[in-house]
Amino acid sequence: MTQRQNGRIANDGQRRISVLGSTGSVGTNTLDLISRERDKYDIVALTAHSNAALLAEQAKELRPQIAVIGDEEKASDLKDALNGSGIEIAAGRSALIDAASEPADWIMSAIVGAAGLEPTLSAVEQGATVALANKETLVCAGSFFNERLKEKGATLLPVDSEHNAIFQVFDFERPERVEKVILTASGGPFRTRDRATFETITPAEAVAHPNWSMGAKISVDSATMMNKGLELIEAYFLFPIEISQLDVLVHPQSVVHSMVEYVDGSVLAQLGSPDMRTPIGYALGWPDRVHTPSPKLDLADVGRLDFFAPDYDKFRCLWLARQALDQGGGAPAILNAANEIAVQAFLSEKLGFLDIVTIVEETLDAVEDWPLDSLPAIKALDAEARRCAQSLVDQHIQR
Ligand code: NAD
Ligand code: MG
Repeated sequence: MTQRQNGRIANDGQRRISVLGSTGSVGTNTLDLISRERDKYDIVALTAHSNAALLAEQAKELRPQIAVIGDEEKASDLKDALNGSGIEIAAGRSALIDAASEPADWIMSAIVGAAGLEPTLSAVEQGATVALANKETLVCAGSFFNERLKEKGATLLPVDSEHNAIFQVFDFERPERVEKVILTASGGPFRTRDRATFETITPAEAVAHPNWSMGAKISVDSATMMNKGLELIEAYFLFPIEISQLDVLVHPQSVVHSMVEYVDGSVLAQLGSPDMRTPIGYALGWPDRVHTPSPKLDLADVGRLDFFAPDYDKFRCLWLARQALDQGGGAPAILNAANEIAVQAFLSEKLGFLDIVTIVEETLDAVEDWPLDSLPAIKALDAEARRCAQSLVDQHIQR
């Protein structure tokens, strides 16, 4: 029997699960898998930023111990919707971080952006198994995060499809036999579009990803290919490899999710339909495998698999991210913060598509780096980079 702090008792064998960012694309896919085998899980916490209606609906169905909304202005909507349900409700940033420290066996980290860092750290601090979708956590605090992980003996399972693929085929017993880690990239919606027309790209065009259905921010990151840049940094902190061993290969069909090349010339890959429920299901079932409703891969139907080298001139964000990884220290954190500000400004139609890379580059040039050896130091650098990027955005708007 598993006894919980609040006295509720979970049935024998049930896993206590929390989903941070339950209303997002990864969050809803996670809940979809959980609802299919509802009896196996005891839901501890569900969290969202501002979608109180969806969070309430999820809570009514899954009966978590606690439902947390980040945006305090939405607290009363959530309270009204869950009135009389017996589900505990909390609101605000610190409640969100506290929710991640509620005892759980498995915690999905699916908040978008650096906002996910502290809740994810909080999940690590309790030594839980953390399924990590929130790549920005590793980008802005990779070394510090890994230290906390080691100290707490927490388990990290990568959910990002590329890293999940690598995790499945990486020989952790013999990392010295790995020659290369090759991340595949779809190339996004503008892979074949003439760069001369990039200036006129609208947010609607940028979020229309050809293969994956995802949240707005990661969709824009895929369109600029910053997403693959963030993923290079994520891979560096997830796997025991050198930066020089990391490669990117454009693969428009998104069937080969990534590959590991060994010293003998063997290349191992993980393949599947582009459906996040496969990597999420892998993390949920690990070390076992679970059934998922993802469409089974029909290679005869796919017919052909293409691969190209990435175009770093056309997609300069990818190049900037590589540079930031090479530079190390706080550079990835500055890159990430500036990108979040620039993407938000683009989505609210205050900036053009090509301005995103300009803001990121100018912020990287302007912000002085400092050692990221504590959470306050990480938060301060993130805040400083955001302040700088925002003032650059404001200047752009005035031009
Ligand atoms: P999304 O925008 O669809 O959902 C984000 C979730 O985070 C929502 O539940 C939202 O309420 C919550 N949130 C947003 N801002 C918040 C804040 N300030 N504080 C607390 N909660 C906040 O995003 P997504 O596409 O599900 O992506 C989530 C994360 O997973 C991102 O880091 C993304 O890079 C990564 N990821 C997503 C996919 C995908 O297929 N969507 C694939 C790989 C990796
Ligand atoms: Mg990915």
